[in-house]
Amino acid sequence: MASIGILALQGGVVEHRRHLEALGLSVCEVRYATDLAGLRGLILPGGESTCLGRLLRLTGLGAEIVQAHRDQGLQLWGTCAGAILLAREIVGETPHLGLLDIVVARNAFGSQLDSFRTQALVPAVAAEPIPLVFIRAPQIVSVGPAVTVLLRQDGYVAAVEDAHGILATVFHPELSDSLAFHRYFAQRCGIDLPAQAPASCAPFLAPAAGG
Ligand code: GLN
Repeated sequence: MASIGILALQGGVVEHRRHLEALGLSVCEVRYATDLAGLRGLILPGGESTCLGRLLRLTGLGAEIVQAHRDQGLQLWGTCAGAILLAREIVGETPHLGLLDIVVARNAFGSQLDSFRTQALVPAVAAEPIPLVFIRAPQIVSVGPAVTVLLRQDGYVAAVEDAHGILATVFHPELSDSLAFHRYFAQRCGIDLPAQAPASCAPFLAPAAGG
């Protein structure tokens, strides 16, 4: 089966791996350019975008990802810091990969203590509301004409895709029990899921007190 890679330099790698494996997908952790060979898609996980961006530059892996996306149609999905890595513009900072026509504002909800959970219906992705975990998240403050908004709430954009093989979410589907976004990404990568693939997996985080 074709595999999906997870950029494994820093950040939420094991959480994405659990979700992809729960769907029965074959997973590859990507640390070197050679790891990109044969992948249909690559997840850029949450973490710290300045750290990830620096490592992508220092290792040259960033340029290889850009090339694999442009030349071989490698599908990309950035979650939180990963979405920041993909953005064409970061408010007040130099962009990293600059592949997706969005402008993001980092840490737009405040500090780590202002992290929160909610849920929303994302009709393109699933028929049921999807749990959303925001951790020191950015906001997508504007999108280009070729970018489709998948989720907009409270005046900001939280999930987008373009027609060139990029998906970006400012929240963390890998930290909830829902597999909806991982399914959706596999579908975008043209990978057929095993018939018995489940809809959810055990939650990674314990439920918040009282909720
Ligand atoms: N605040 C981080 C950044 O700007 C992103 C946090 C996350 O990925 N959860 O890079």
